[in-house]
Amino acid sequence: MRHTLLPGIFLPAIALAAFAAAPRATVDGARRFMDNVETTLDKLNVVDNRAQWVRDTYIIDDTEILAAQADEDSIRQTVDFVHQAEPFAALPLPPDLARKFQLLKLSLTIAAPSDPAKAAELTRITSAMEGTYGKGKYCPPGGGKCLDLEGLSRILRTSRNADELKQAWAGWHAIAPPMRQPFQRYVELANEGARELGFADTGAMWRSKYDMPADQFAAETDRLWNQVRPLYLALHAYVRSRLHQIYGDAQPATGPIRADLLGNMWAQQWDSIFPLVAPADADPGYDLTKILEARKTEPKRMVHYAENFFTSLGFAPLPPTFWERSLFVRPRDRDVVCHASAWDVDGKDDLRVKVCLEPTAEDFITIHHELGHNFYQRAYDTQPLMFRDGANDGFHEAIGDTIALSVTPEYLVKIGLLDVAPPPSKDTGLLLRKALEKIAFLPFGLLIDRWRWEVFSGRITPAQYTRAWWDLRLKYQGVVPPVERSEADFDPAAKYHVAANVPYTRYFLADILQFQFHRALSRAAGCTGPLNRCSIYGNQEAGRRLNAMLEMGQSKPWPDALYELTGQREMDATAILDYFAPLKKWLDQQNQGQPVGW
Ligand SMILES: [Zn+2]
Repeated sequence: MRHTLLPGIFLPAIALAAFAAAPRATVDGARRFMDNVETTLDKLNVVDNRAQWVRDTYIIDDTEILAAQADEDSIRQTVDFVHQAEPFAALPLPPDLARKFQLLKLSLTIAAPSDPAKAAELTRITSAMEGTYGKGKYCPPGGGKCLDLEGLSRILRTSRNADELKQAWAGWHAIAPPMRQPFQRYVELANEGARELGFADTGAMWRSKYDMPADQFAAETDRLWNQVRPLYLALHAYVRSRLHQIYGDAQPATGPIRADLLGNMWAQQWDSIFPLVAPADADPGYDLTKILEARKTEPKRMVHYAENFFTSLGFAPLPPTFWERSLFVRPRDRDVVCHASAWDVDGKDDLRVKVCLEPTAEDFITIHHELGHNFYQRAYDTQPLMFRDGANDGFHEAIGDTIALSVTPEYLVKIGLLDVAPPPSKDTGLLLRKALEKIAFLPFGLLIDRWRWEVFSGRITPAQYTRAWWDLRLKYQGVVPPVERSEADFDPAAKYHVAANVPYTRYFLADILQFQFHRALSRAAGCTGPLNRCSIYGNQEAGRRLNAMLEMGQSKPWPDALYELTGQREMDATAILDYFAPLKKWLDQQNQGQPVGW
């Protein structure tokens, strides 16, 4: 999704000269400099957003080149801005203005070195790695059809043959070794750029985005993880025992779980194996996909259901242009990026989604999630450019998921999609499915950047890349590779976000925050029952609380935004424990007398 400030623009030459020639930096000068940065970027972001939109909805060589060019210019130009800003940032500025300078400096996920040759090399390497990943295929020995990630993932999701799973897993991971050398160079160059900006390394730069010292933030994520770890251990033990029953020797009854048996290439979400591990009476008695199919629900109708959720909370309906300009279905005549995303093209009200909707329960949740981004974008559109983003990057992802947590059976009854809600006795199945998605994800969401932070800091050397990766996967997830690994492999790069330089901690935070938001909004809405049965649909007070946080954008440190919605200034994983409390009790019963942990 696109909700971030898109750096990318050339300050006009005259303005540049004026600032460069300024004899002494003053607070007034700082304000004028920042005003200029914001107006210039504001106008030109629109052009950039349109280039990206056209590329994503009409993929041909030319649109790819134009979009890539915009990205390259962006990075280089933002680095220039940051350097020009240095004399001002040292001044005693008023808090709002100081925050803008800080955010400008932190708006990059990669800082190019000032040496143009090195900057060009870094751009070349990052786009080549993303290309290598995107083109990744596994061709089985002795002929047979080559499979891309989509095909291999389908095997991971659906096959129950341990050898076939192992082969698909190893096949995909074989795309990564060619990225090892480029990755090593990327680390060197990105660190050089980060150091020029005054950060210890790129990992420290990423951690600095969270309004607290980099070390304190790392400790904060550990604290959150330790809150939920007992729940993860219970889920891990239960799933392991079910997999042992199914796969026998291929999955021992004790120790870690084989990473290819969990239904997903990275073992990051396990909901695909729900049918394998579900208790006998898990069927809730309805199937939303079948209901949507039977009613021949049109894609636009699905979007209207989601919009209706937000208007029921008191938000204004989406603008007419949203309906005219969005992409709702996969076009028949051209290639598009179907990965769902939410857009705010002009920073005013040109909101759009780009989704390829099918009448399924999954897409029904997806569109609620995407509109969460759109309503966030609209709520902070009155802020100056530098403040138009989520309170931190975890918040933006969490909003849509918070709303999706309110898509309960009772909500489906209220909007007429379901006649009667299943009785509470069916909650175990519903909760287990959700835990396989959300709880299973937490250690994975944490460890990706644990590995990268250490790589950037040099504590993990290139000679330890793969070993350190598996040490972390064992420590946090309790999983092991299905085949032996060595430093001839480079498994981290078999994950998109590593190959493509996308920080990952935001997904861990979003997974925690969405439950904290859901608990606070449910209580504001007067729901006193079990959290998993609460829906804030139709509640204006919950809408008011939500909007109070959304409209702040990132104008204040995130604890201030968190406080507006939850009354808490700290992230708190106990809401997850509350939500899954009935499941934890059930898991503990199932695990009785069984080993827990690995
Ligand atoms: Zn999203």
